[in-house]
Amino acid sequence: MPRYDFECEACKKTEERVVLYSQIKEQKCLCGSNMKMLFSPSVAIISDEIPLRYSMALGKPIDGRADWKKQMKAKGFSTDLNPY
Ligand SMILES: [Zn+2]
Repeated sequence: MPRYDFECEACKKTEERVVLYSQIKEQKCLCGSNMKMLFSPSVAIISDEIPLRYSMALGKPIDGRADWKKQMKAKGFSTDLNPY
């Protein structure tokens, strides 16, 4: 199963958990608040369960490198450096 990093919305505690994709939205902190999934910078998430890449620069999922370039250019960012 894939691992995900989560951050508590209340106490900001972060924790790595091994969960199913369908369980991502159900994660609770020990303090009882909801935990949201974190994405690491410059990491492309590709797995059987999550067929997407996530761009930190754009703040949203992207549909491959061509789409990333298009969206980065649209926002005026350089695409010469590290992708995603
Ligand atoms: Zn908490």
